[in-house]
Amino acid sequence: MSGKNIPVGSIVLLGAPGAGKGTQAKLIAGHYGIPHISTGDILRDNVARGTELGRKAKRVMERGDLVSDDLVNGMVADRIKQPDADRGFVLDGFPRTVAQAEWLDRELAAKAGEKKQTVVVDVDVSYNQLLQRLTGRRTCPVDGKIYNIYLQPPKNEGLCDVCGTQLFQRVDDTEEVISERLKSYERQTKPLEDFYRKHGRLRRVNGEQSVEKVMADMFRAIEGARLRQGLSD
Ligand code: AMP
Repeated sequence: MSGKNIPVGSIVLLGAPGAGKGTQAKLIAGHYGIPHISTGDILRDNVARGTELGRKAKRVMERGDLVSDDLVNGMVADRIKQPDADRGFVLDGFPRTVAQAEWLDRELAAKAGEKKQTVVVDVDVSYNQLLQRLTGRRTCPVDGKIYNIYLQPPKNEGLCDVCGTQLFQRVDDTEEVISERLKSYERQTKPLEDFYRKHGRLRRVNGEQSVEKVMADMFRAIEGARLRQGLSD
């Protein structure tokens, strides 16, 4: 599989917080040479910079609730218009509601020359495994590398293996907020599976395997969908 010049289209990764969407999205984006668009990362960046968007989103995020569709849709609209997203992009954490998914379909249909369907892959992980992954997650602020104190600890406690920087825990990765985030997921994001299944677009991957196995299954799912759309090499 080559990847850096071919049309790819839009790829959506579904799955609960902690399912490993971010890790997989980075690998897919790197393989095809397309941007990884994480709405959570864009929002956190706005919060850190204290922008108007960040001020509006901060408290909602700290509670583990979802930011309003309008705000997030606007953010995605701006991002996918950038020239680096011309050949396609990987969406991680978006859509998260059926209204966002409907908006995305309309937006992509309206995009000049867009004739491909979104490829949707659901990363499936059990509730208990999600809890362990989220409560144990630690991130390096410098290179973004993600560890887990239970499942994938750094060599020296609390420090990044690559650059030695002190790792941090996301403010919304505490047990109380995690339980809210998983509830929002069940209530608002789970119905998306039905939305995409109804349109025959949902592909599932078992997320409780090694990163390499999940990645291999992901590529199989994506390439299968691209082949069907006549986009493969
Ligand atoms: P994530 O990093 O994807 O887990 O997102 C962190 C937080 O950002 C979520 O708990 C929400 O508060 C907010 N967020 C991210 N993406 C969306 C979205 N598509 N719709 C609404 N809120 C979002």
